[in-house]
Amino acid sequence: MDSSNIRSLVIEDNAVHARLILSLLAKAEAVSFDVVHVDTLTAGLARLAQGGIDVVLLDLVLPDSQELDTFLRLRKEAPDIPVVILSGLEDINLAARAVESGAQAYLIKGQINSAQLERSIRYAIERTRAQSGEWDSPMFRLAQQQFLKAAQIMDLDDNFRQRLLFPQRTQVVTFPFRRDKHEEVETVFGYRVQHVLTMGPTKGGIRYHQEVNLGEVSALAMWMTWKCALMQLPFGGAKGGVRVDPTGFSRKELQRLTRRFTSEIIGMIGPDKDIPAPDMGTDENVMAWIMDTYSQQVGYSVPAVVTGKPVVLGGSLGRKEATGRGVVYTIEDAAKHMGMTLDQCTAVIQGFGNVGSNTARFLAEDGVKIVAVSDATTGIYNPRGLSVGSLLEYIREHRFLKGYPEGEEISNAELLELPCDILVPAALQNQISAENAPRINCKLLAEGANGPTSLEADEILNNKGIFIVPDVLANAGGVTVSYFEWVQGTQNYMWSLDEINSRLHKIMTTAFHAALERSQRDHVDMRTAALIEGIDRITQAKLLRGLFP
Ligand code: GLU
Repeated sequence: MDSSNIRSLVIEDNAVHARLILSLLAKAEAVSFDVVHVDTLTAGLARLAQGGIDVVLLDLVLPDSQELDTFLRLRKEAPDIPVVILSGLEDINLAARAVESGAQAYLIKGQINSAQLERSIRYAIERTRAQSGEWDSPMFRLAQQQFLKAAQIMDLDDNFRQRLLFPQRTQVVTFPFRRDKHEEVETVFGYRVQHVLTMGPTKGGIRYHQEVNLGEVSALAMWMTWKCALMQLPFGGAKGGVRVDPTGFSRKELQRLTRRFTSEIIGMIGPDKDIPAPDMGTDENVMAWIMDTYSQQVGYSVPAVVTGKPVVLGGSLGRKEATGRGVVYTIEDAAKHMGMTLDQCTAVIQGFGNVGSNTARFLAEDGVKIVAVSDATTGIYNPRGLSVGSLLEYIREHRFLKGYPEGEEISNAELLELPCDILVPAALQNQISAENAPRINCKLLAEGANGPTSLEADEILNNKGIFIVPDVLANAGGVTVSYFEWVQGTQNYMWSLDEINSRLHKIMTTAFHAALERSQRDHVDMRTAALIEGIDRITQAKLLRGLFP
């Protein structure tokens, strides 16, 4: 769901009340509403059956249905949709009974303003997610299914299978957050999840995104476990996140949100416990605020509590571009293995954030022709090749790619299907599914993003002979240089950029060949091979440590 655009169904037979609600929704400031209005329950249920509705505003007394029955009939047909009851002053008891039966809230018609209506609707959606959707995320199912597939093939002991399927520790917090220009205080949800605590401290980024939930963060934490183990780093996997859309946030807002979230999860993190890093929607500034908030609490500076910090605060040279650099190291290894000459190859990159843009930059340095890139606003295609320098300059000036003149505009979906040698999804999860996989037209797929490919799509791509460098391998450069940053921080070392890059190269290449050899020896795809390498290391460690008590 796009949380800045809420698709609402208003079921209200009184024309005056309906007009009032519609005009209040039209005035909403923080989000926009797509509104469908019907005046009978039958028409409402028919509209719901078509799908695509995020929330229902429901009058309980309708020509074809009366009182609580109206709500119960709707609930039966659409059990997962949040419902806000529109009540008259005289019907409050009835509205309260509907809330008792599972409606999210009620509002008194004639006593609400636009801001209250908007907030009630947003919170109704939030609460529904919090109650039912936290674990139940497609991403968590994907991470679990990938794990179970690898476990099956490697014949993993069932005790480990159960043990590793869910994270060891999770913390869900809610906390207040005030925007600069609003009086109201928002309640937002935050998460920190530690998947495996066996290997040493846990490690993983923090993402700010409107889709974040417990399941998504848990999936990402699980992938961090396999990623760190595959790279042979002394960390278990973790991840954190806050469910907000930070796109329009001022620096002050971002800082307030970060400091409060840090103080909520402060018991969980620490340089020997759990070390956050940047992920989607967060960057080196956010890391600096986390470090400062933590340091204020303990009373002295603790740079090693986060990685991906600004260099002047103890960040590592090369960390910012490390994920992109790592993606390109694995592409170089894969190309060598496949007999492809990079300076004769074309590449398509989805996403032009930190990972996508640096991948584009380093691929271009290798002589690869970048024919298409994209961000959330648009895709840009130019079969003659795009200049990465000029794209970066355009982004610096305009923030987004929209309007970039030296190419044709295409959608993100079209971009993925362009013919090319190398395709790098470096944006969101769940981009290549059974639906579009048959039309993916590359030789090599290197996953810069976490979880961009569904399990069914994997099979289709493998059958087409596409070589996949899976996310836990392709994008592991970030956490690897995070490890270097942590080592430098805890030991007071300072390594040169050359030293960082050559160590990174060695670790990435070793991991690539470990996965490739296992894939050839056991006749499994690269993803399964990489996961087996990681899972194997974790289970060895767990066996050696034994059980407590
Ligand atoms: N968020 C990054 C990832 O998904 C980096 C994590 C880290 O550096 O700890 O791998």
